[in-house]
Amino acid sequence: MAKKDYYEVLGVKRDASEDEIKKAYRKLARQYHPDVNKNDKDAAEKFKEINEAYEVLKDPEKRARYDQFGHAGMGQGDFDAGNFGGFGDFGDFGSFGGDFFGDIFENFFGGGFGATRRQGPVRGADVLYDLEISLEEAAAGIEREIQVARMEKCERCQGTGAKPGTRPKTCPVCGGTGQVRNVQNTAFGRFVNITTCTRCGGKGTIIEEPCPHCSGRGMMRAHRKIKIKVPPGVDTGSRLRVSGEGEPGERGGPPGDLYVVIRVKPHKLFIRQGDDLIYDAHISFVQAALGDEIEVPTLDGRVKLKIPEGTQPGTNFRLKAKGIPHIKGYGRGDLHVRVNVVIPEKLNEKQKEILRKFADISGEEIKSPSKGFFGKMKDAFGV
Ligand SMILES: [Zn+2]
Ligand SMILES: [Zn+2]
Repeated sequence: MAKKDYYEVLGVKRDASEDEIKKAYRKLARQYHPDVNKNDKDAAEKFKEINEAYEVLKDPEKRARYDQFGHAGMGQGDFDAGNFGGFGDFGDFGSFGGDFFGDIFENFFGGGFGATRRQGPVRGADVLYDLEISLEEAAAGIEREIQVARMEKCERCQGTGAKPGTRPKTCPVCGGTGQVRNVQNTAFGRFVNITTCTRCGGKGTIIEEPCPHCSGRGMMRAHRKIKIKVPPGVDTGSRLRVSGEGEPGERGGPPGDLYVVIRVKPHKLFIRQGDDLIYDAHISFVQAALGDEIEVPTLDGRVKLKIPEGTQPGTNFRLKAKGIPHIKGYGRGDLHVRVNVVIPEKLNEKQKEILRKFADISGEEIKSPSKGFFGKMKDAFGV
């Protein structure tokens, strides 16, 4: 039977406000409530329909989905037994009988307290792998075979954990559901307490003869060689995802992913700043004063750099596109050459003489500390 349109069920227009929907629902629910329609099957059916419609239309998100996709947009699971609408609108649920309460509590405990209700597929865990590479490798990108330690399905028992030739058996305690229901009748009513089955640990199956290879766990620690491709431009902290190479899923669930976490080793010559590189060049004060042509290293080999006459200490020269490739998009960062001017610590007499002459020509008066440091100190303090 085709499902009726939810708006029709509640007798409201498609653009009805939340308030209008609520009002319509209350009126109909009162009319078809099982309490006033005892043993009326049609009324009970109608009451269910009303509740289902209201459950969707009262929720802006669900309503939008319904407006867009109709009933097809309302996947299973949006309606869970015992969870349907109008819960707070009626105080009296007496006529629903004990099973209704049982379902509510089952939902309650199943969802809220972690007691595994159904043993569905579980996605495998993700695996992290730390990969240390050089700056050159980060810039150029590499292909590498890495060895990843991870859990894998035991080949001997196909992951069942049971000795080859045998199979896991349905748990006799819980009958395969993985949980045990205890019904308690108290002065306040009937309570259903759901606990994980202790015999099978919630799995629903037991293994009488464990697989000797994996001791019944169904999984083995393995070292798997995996080829990975590191794209140019990665930096410390970059994560590469290798889909499906994590640990296996359980009960038919998909495997997790492998994440390769990159660490780029510090470089002897270059400091990395984003996609730019910094190189500290040292030149003499003569080179700085007269200008020169020097060679500087880059990731692609040495290049010539012109030092202009009168270059000041700390001057930066930018070599365009000699840095790290941008990981997103085209192009590369730059290489900044930072110029340090080195003052000689020791000069011979001839060098000194030339410099004194230089100072003289420049009109500079140099008070040579010929007396030595301490002599000069004495002069300064007049002792
Ligand atoms: Zn095994
Ligand atoms: Zn069990």
